[in-house]
Amino acid sequence: MSDVKNYDPDCLFCNIIRGDIPSTKVYEDDACFAFRDIAPQAPTHILVIPKTHIASADELNADNAALAAHILAVIPQIAAAEGLTGGYRIVSNVGGDAGQTVRHLHFHILGGKRLEDQMA
Ligand code: AMP
Repeated sequence: MSDVKNYDPDCLFCNIIRGDIPSTKVYEDDACFAFRDIAPQAPTHILVIPKTHIASADELNADNAALAAHILAVIPQIAAAEGLTGGYRIVSNVGGDAGQTVRHLHFHILGGKRLEDQMA
């Protein structure tokens, strides 16, 4: 059970952080939470999210960018723990055109196979 800043009761990922909705956790610290994607698109597919409700990367600014920087510093630790020595992809979808389905900032970590060359 973790507190979420700017908690949105209607947000799936806020409720995952709080433990109200189950997830397979792979990492947690005071500022972020990481868990396995429920519909993996690669052998390793992990979502890393801030413990602050921020709708997407489009809401990052000078006041909250440190949180995104923290997540980007944590991702290599998660990738190493997952054995992603061959490389991996970091993705953050923003808005409808990018296919964002959960309006809580998240970074996908995808790896464990040779990923598609095409990104869009
Ligand atoms: P996006 O489409 O970029 O917004 O990514 C949202 C991701 O959340 C998708 O890859 C979903 O498979 C994943 N997802 C949705 N619900 C859950 C859940 N309950 N537990 C884990 N991952 C989820």
